[in-house]
Amino acid sequence: MTGPVPYRGRFAPSPTGRLHFGSLVAALGSWLLARHHRGEWLVRVEDLDPPREVAGAAHAQLETLGAFGMVSDGPVLWQSRRHAAYQQAVDQLLDGGAAFFCRCSRSDLAAVDGIHRRCVASDSRRLPAIRLRVDDAAQVAFDDGLQGRIVQDVAREVGDVVLRRADGYWAYQLAVVVDDHAQGITDVVRGADLLDSTPRQILLQQALGLPTPRYLHLPLIVDAQGQKLSKSMAALPVDDDAPLSALAAAWQVLGQRPGAVAGLSSVSGWMAAASANFQPETLPKVTSTTFAALHNTAVARAV
Ligand code: GLU
Repeated sequence: MTGPVPYRGRFAPSPTGRLHFGSLVAALGSWLLARHHRGEWLVRVEDLDPPREVAGAAHAQLETLGAFGMVSDGPVLWQSRRHAAYQQAVDQLLDGGAAFFCRCSRSDLAAVDGIHRRCVASDSRRLPAIRLRVDDAAQVAFDDGLQGRIVQDVAREVGDVVLRRADGYWAYQLAVVVDDHAQGITDVVRGADLLDSTPRQILLQQALGLPTPRYLHLPLIVDAQGQKLSKSMAALPVDDDAPLSALAAAWQVLGQRPGAVAGLSSVSGWMAAASANFQPETLPKVTSTTFAALHNTAVARAV
């Protein structure tokens, strides 16, 4: 007899503002998939980039998740407290020759479309970044749970990956790989804006000797002009005091049957009905969906 398949998912917002409808879709999608697989769902605060952080946003995001019925099944992990783990990972890569110090600036790299293949630094006094060395033959392929087979020529399309920035901050790509492993994440479910980051995360896992989790990228919510919601005027925060209408819209964007959650008046009742009726096979296999987000009761429409 085999036991249940272990499943641990996560939602990992950056505290750059309040949660908007696009983040709600990613949070709800990852939560529903974790519940569907009888797994756990963890929250991680990706507060790695103080210049982009908005004071109070992390706590506001956690409060919003709570108001929408989504609470981490374990302690919330704060990336700002994880420097030692990132340092250890980078030391391992530097010691083994898989990472190197690099003084190239953006303008140095402009002539090669910003893609680093060898150092061309013009100013040797610049503080160095640390990069992962990407082999010329580094083609990565993986099967996304929704988007199908994804192939990327990381050397040609991305180049040597920054692990620690020249300003001393850890790069998202490093932190996400170290922390997905540290939290025992088996299933990364997130927006399709991160689809093209996944191959470099897989390369990094391989360089660190870590297993690769499963990946599933949900449609990114864009406005009528095709702009990512967080960058558009329509990116109104979801309202903690009116969760049901936003949940219903997110449910519809996720390709689920509206009738399954109709007429419910409490968030806990809604979430219970949603997890009982969720059908992963009807998730839309698209990388983006438009949303007319004029207010929190706006109607979502997949294209
Ligand atoms: N912190 C990232 C964001 O808010 C998401 C990281 C991830 O899910 O891997 O865009």
